[in-house]
Amino acid sequence: MRSVLLSNGKNIESLILDERPVPLPSEGEIRVRMRAHTLNHIDLWVLSGSPAYSVSLPHVMGSEGVGVVDALGENISPEFSMKVGDAVALSPGQGCLMCELCRSGSESLCPSYRVLGGHLPGVFSEYVCLPATRLLPVPPSLSPLSASAVTLAGATAHQGLVVRGGARAGERWLVVGASGGVGHLACLLAMLLKLDVFGTYGPEKKREILSRFMDIPLVSHEAPDWPEKILKLSGRPFDGVLDTVGGATIPRILPLLRKGGRAVVVGETTGSPTQFPTRELFGRQLSLHGVYLAHRSDILAMLDWVAKGDLSPIVSDVGPLASISPLQKAYRRMSERDFVGKLGFGWQ
Ligand SMILES: [Zn+2]
Repeated sequence: MRSVLLSNGKNIESLILDERPVPLPSEGEIRVRMRAHTLNHIDLWVLSGSPAYSVSLPHVMGSEGVGVVDALGENISPEFSMKVGDAVALSPGQGCLMCELCRSGSESLCPSYRVLGGHLPGVFSEYVCLPATRLLPVPPSLSPLSASAVTLAGATAHQGLVVRGGARAGERWLVVGASGGVGHLACLLAMLLKLDVFGTYGPEKKREILSRFMDIPLVSHEAPDWPEKILKLSGRPFDGVLDTVGGATIPRILPLLRKGGRAVVVGETTGSPTQFPTRELFGRQLSLHGVYLAHRSDILAMLDWVAKGDLSPIVSDVGPLASISPLQKAYRRMSERDFVGKLGFGWQ
């Protein structure tokens, strides 16, 4: 079988398509024949040698994927049992499953929480063996790429907007970075939840692409005065801001909120803020939430929206992988932010 392997260096050039034996499922594991994968920013952190994801080489890449149950190991708990042929999505992150946080459904807060492809070997292989607890049922009719797109990025959008942000119908929300993986799914979800949603994007060419998928007011956050522009467009402060760009933008998003408003930060791709607006935070009684990935319930909620046909992730297929070069090209596009939505591939 083929696997996408980071071989002897932490850079895009060191990716190879490796041939290896099909693995056998151990006790409690299920083998999945993978159908589709989507790329995540975690992959780029691994490829750049980020200390947050200090993997040892060689390393199988990838956090996101869906497939079909292919073989069952011994002693699988009936609660997580599946049949050969069942369509499944992989849960990218998982805790110990035993502590109070895990049992109450808040596994991303578990001290043992680890992410496939980031802290653990990844899933970009034609066959993957994983603990049965990491698999989620997927309606067989679902597009594999669409399903894969919501297992991490979509679930993070759900966790940020609904669970931590507490967004309610009729509220006005701003999504900073509306063209990215989490951002575009947050906008689509916000529209479904009947929020009044506004968005920002980077380069001007992304506006036209985004407008094809969502009819929302948009401003480029590359303009130095974008906060003033979006506030003028809105006519009033926002109830909430979901910031997928994060970091350096924090001092600029807090003044956009009404008194008591909520800011949710899910990334730091623009670096760290040089100043923190403490007075904005306490003086206007704002809430600031940090969200790192999501829980199993977030993935199931998003898969349900996609299955009902209400939510269609924007996914560009860069495969199939006859060689490694389409994937290397896709990662270069990601690092240059030259894409909208998600990038993905399937196995032929
Ligand atoms: Zn735990």
